[in-house]
Amino acid sequence: MTVSALMPVYPRCGVRPVRGEHCHLIDEDGTRYLDFAAGIAVNLLGHSHPGLIGAIQRQAETLMHVSNLYGSPQGEALAQRLVDTTFADTVFFTNSGAEAVECAIKAARAYHQHAGNDEKFELITFRNAFHGRTMATISASNQEKMHKGFTPLLPGFRYVDFDDLEAVKAAIGPNTAGFLVEPVQGEGGIRVASAEFIKGLRALADEHDLMLVFDEVQCGVARTGTLYAYEQMGVEPDIMATAKGIGGGFPLGACLATAKGARGMTAGTHGSTYGGNPLAMAAGMAVMDAVANEEFLAQVRARGERLRGRLEQFIGNYPDLFEGVRGMGLMLGLKMKGEPRPFMIHLRDNHLLLTVAAGDQTLRILPPLVIEDAEMDEFIEKLSAGAASYQPED
Ligand code: PMP
Repeated sequence: MTVSALMPVYPRCGVRPVRGEHCHLIDEDGTRYLDFAAGIAVNLLGHSHPGLIGAIQRQAETLMHVSNLYGSPQGEALAQRLVDTTFADTVFFTNSGAEAVECAIKAARAYHQHAGNDEKFELITFRNAFHGRTMATISASNQEKMHKGFTPLLPGFRYVDFDDLEAVKAAIGPNTAGFLVEPVQGEGGIRVASAEFIKGLRALADEHDLMLVFDEVQCGVARTGTLYAYEQMGVEPDIMATAKGIGGGFPLGACLATAKGARGMTAGTHGSTYGGNPLAMAAGMAVMDAVANEEFLAQVRARGERLRGRLEQFIGNYPDLFEGVRGMGLMLGLKMKGEPRPFMIHLRDNHLLLTVAAGDQTLRILPPLVIEDAEMDEFIEKLSAGAASYQPED
């Protein structure tokens, strides 16, 4: 048994990568694994991307950290880039997704409290949502196993069924501040919200003067084939959390908002020592340089369609194992008929790394966005070998 000083909160899967190359991870023995987890939708440029490495190296040599009391040209530049490419007017940088959601929750409450409406503090959130592991974000996440042992939760969250507009309407009350929703649920099992649902939330928010908050921590940054998934739903939020892919592997998140959505976030009301750190800004800018162009996004859409087609063909051979494929772009889910974890062991033995959605029997297929045809072939080969060797009662 390996003894580790790490707090044992992660059940380990037995693979210990020490190096990464493009879409592969390599362990201590030199075994190569095809990485279709990508750090859970983080390494969108794959591993060892020269542009990303160069940007971080150059910035590290110039200035590694400076307090937000002074600000930095790198932070100004990346914020402007995010504003230019999204619905937003203003940006707050964080180090993680949970912190970006925390900022979004605070901004939604502050929107009302800034206007003297202190009773409007409650966010309507959705079944199977995942918003992070801090106290506010577990409270916002309707997954019981995330709460166990950590109660009492933070008040101010009301859960309703995902994609059920009537339930949302019924839940709106005098305390409602807004809606917090993942346009594509990630941990909940790669469930795409219908455009009608998201449009309905926008209409309700406008009608009742509520904040529409998107959590695009997992589905954002080109993953679905547009810079953000909301673009494909024809709706803009007031506030949005983004993270994961935005740093390409460097810890970086951001809360974006319209001027209206950020009206309560005035000088001295919020902060972070590291958020907006120049190194993280350099990483974010390198990622934006690579992904924020129509050519790259069109490639993601084409790759997503190709991969989806191949997955649908593949599951046709195993009707007893799989229920279907869902998702958008290169954020795909393979719903299994039984428990997916034993099958994952067969995939690992065939040197394929995937993750299971926390709240569902779904294998998450989240490759680096730069996958090539040869890696897609390798994926289907490894998946087929895993399926061929798998007996569900194993
Ligand atoms: N929101 C969503 C939709 C996520 O998928 C995650 C992470 N899985 C988070 C928030 C939390 O991000 P982090 O782990 O970087 O805090």
